[in-house]
Amino acid sequence: MVGMHIDILTLFPNMFSGPFADSIVKRAIDRDLIDIKIHNLRDWGQGKHKVVDDYPFGGGTGMVMKPEPLFEAVEAIKEDSGSLYLPVILLTPQGRVFNQRIAAELAALERFILICGHYEGIDERVREHLVTDEISIGDYILTGGEIAAMVIVDAAVRLLPGVLGSEDSAADDSHASGLLEYSQYTRPQAYRGLEVPEVLLSGNHARIAKWRREQSIMRTLKRRPDLLEKANLSSEEREMISELITEKG
Ligand code: SAM
Repeated sequence: MVGMHIDILTLFPNMFSGPFADSIVKRAIDRDLIDIKIHNLRDWGQGKHKVVDDYPFGGGTGMVMKPEPLFEAVEAIKEDSGSLYLPVILLTPQGRVFNQRIAAELAALERFILICGHYEGIDERVREHLVTDEISIGDYILTGGEIAAMVIVDAAVRLLPGVLGSEDSAADDSHASGLLEYSQYTRPQAYRGLEVPEVLLSGNHARIAKWRREQSIMRTLKRRPDLLEKANLSSEEREMISELITEKG
């Protein structure tokens, strides 16, 4: 049985062939941990020319995606899935801003539909009466929702049990616990006179874990202090941060 199903509605299905045909997502598909179906919205286009967009009422530049193909496509996917209550997520710069918490939320779903917008966007009736959630990948404008869908699928899929080599690698990642990840090193031990920190070669796991935790906190304080407020920290760690801030002060 497949772990999770994602249906993606797009006007540009070919855009997905690269990102999902390699690496971790491909492996997850091959191992039936995930099933990703790319649906060409034009298949539900109107009339002989399979029209999917039209001019905006009231005038203005650009085209707007018509409601009929989107409603019919979502209804067909729901019918095929046997569930009328699938989450329908619209990719839009006006949605809640994607982060690791939302990735975990999506990874807990059995199935969901992603709608990739294009042109000036979609008819508002789709947003009001078909869509159940709206997600943005940041405060900037992309030409279409496809790249946003790829980002979201990639971030959610790597959180599914069994997708990564070891569960721990996702748990330590930046943002998993609200902190940035500690610095990583690999061989050689010395490169152009630059040495790997001694503690990492000590073989003392408790010391290494302590060093990494401190690194993580210091990095977050330096690069993303805004994250610290919500991070999972002990009272000693919070005290250490206050002292560091006072010292810098
Ligand atoms: N006129 C729209 C607005 O101002 O809200 C933007 C339309 S944009 C050119 C076309 C499509 O790209 C959107 O419908 C959406 O699906 C996608 N898109 C653009 N920026 C995005 C972002 N930051 N996050 C998610 N999707 C985005």
